[in-house]
Amino acid sequence: MDKILLMLQLQSSLNEATNGEEWTKGVTKNNKIINWKRCVYMECAEMIDSFSWKHWKNIDKEADWANLQIEVVDVWHFIMSLAIQNYANAYKGGVDELALDISALSNFNKIDTKNELFSTQDIIIETIESIMFDVLNRDNLELEKLISEFFDLVVMSGLDLDTLYKLYVGKNILNQFRQDNGYKDGSYIKVWAGEEDNVVMKRVLDKGSDISPSELYKELTKLYISLNKS
Ligand code: MG
Ligand code: MG
Repeated sequence: MDKILLMLQLQSSLNEATNGEEWTKGVTKNNKIINWKRCVYMECAEMIDSFSWKHWKNIDKEADWANLQIEVVDVWHFIMSLAIQNYANAYKGGVDELALDISALSNFNKIDTKNELFSTQDIIIETIESIMFDVLNRDNLELEKLISEFFDLVVMSGLDLDTLYKLYVGKNILNQFRQDNGYKDGSYIKVWAGEEDNVVMKRVLDKGSDISPSELYKELTKLYISLNKS
């Protein structure tokens, strides 16, 4: 429960910093329309690209399981945002109420047990496509169904609440770091001395098992400055 609430709080702060305080109204401080559902299905497409699903290309290539996990964490950013927005607009409450409701879902127990096993490609893709269907459906959003299916996907991707939390905090802080360093205007440097920032962040995270969000941010700042000095 704590971890769900913490992730919702971090997501809410990230959205506020990136899009302004009124983000739940569906428009950013730069007057760009926010479409969380589209964010979810586009990220789902990236997830499917972790597999060699094309029948005409690289047909025997092994799936990129590490990338699958990264994309699961990416989509979680957007599902949480969609849920927070839905709660705000339907007057169902803030992140506290949402966290309580999420931990009361019957599927929540599934992610609350340690897990490192992956399901098969076909079952995973089927679940991803169910999630896409949930957000492409023009009828009312079935939020509980969406989150329950996402938890199925978490388990199928060899993750659990602890590992999801750790990867999420890492990516959230990196996203915050990118925003603070010119991501929107395009001046941010994504490749640090030949490595993508994701990879550098993951290494910092793996080194310090109990690194706090603020320590991670400081470490990224140090590395960004030193690796991108010309
Ligand atoms: Mg993406
Ligand atoms: Mg992605």
